[in-house]
Amino acid sequence: MRNFIQFLYRGMVVILITFFLLIPFATPAEAAPVELPPLPYDYDALAPFIDAETMQFHHDKHHAAYISKLNEALEKHTSLQNQSTEALLKDLSQVPEDVRKTIQNNGGGHLNHSMFWQIMKPQGGGTPTGALAEAINQTFGSFESFQEQFNQAGLGQFGSGWVWLVSNPQGQLQIISTANQDSPLMQGLYPVMGNDVWEHAYYLSYRNRRADYLSNWWNVVNWPEIEKRYAAAQA
Ligand code: MN
Repeated sequence: MRNFIQFLYRGMVVILITFFLLIPFATPAEAAPVELPPLPYDYDALAPFIDAETMQFHHDKHHAAYISKLNEALEKHTSLQNQSTEALLKDLSQVPEDVRKTIQNNGGGHLNHSMFWQIMKPQGGGTPTGALAEAINQTFGSFESFQEQFNQAGLGQFGSGWVWLVSNPQGQLQIISTANQDSPLMQGLYPVMGNDVWEHAYYLSYRNRRADYLSNWWNVVNWPEIEKRYAAAQA
């Protein structure tokens, strides 16, 4: 009997030790939080058109802050963690009301900036080619006229926001602007390219001269990447 009790006791000790050892591996499966994508070039790579300090703050502080607030909101509703940020923004009505505005602002901020870093590059600029070039010419008359209309829309966006070239559900190109961090996805439009006209994007170098920033920005535009986005929108 005594042996049996000892056997039970030892068995329980073994089970308990095993249980505690396994705790770190046994936490419930949790979707990975959204992570800050690395900047695909150095902070100073877009100078002199966008200065290094602006790039560093814009990526490391502003974009990072959108992500941390997005993750805080997602933590409150685990069901949202299985969906992409794109899917959430396409149908915000399905997002619980207590985090809807937070996800609109910070999910939008995350997606908009993730695109922004990709559609710029050092030694960028020039003109688009192929199907995108044709569509721009057909829609806006010429590339120069497109640039002018895009700059005007960026200049005309009162306060913080973005200017976009979007593809609508019929596959047609349109220039729009949005306030704050609102994504064109919220309106059923695909963002082919966009420029950030928040003051944090240009104020250190350009101060209040948004028009100069908008016209200089074309020197860092990554057309091959934008052509890929246009092809994805048409697919
Ligand atoms: Mn920004």
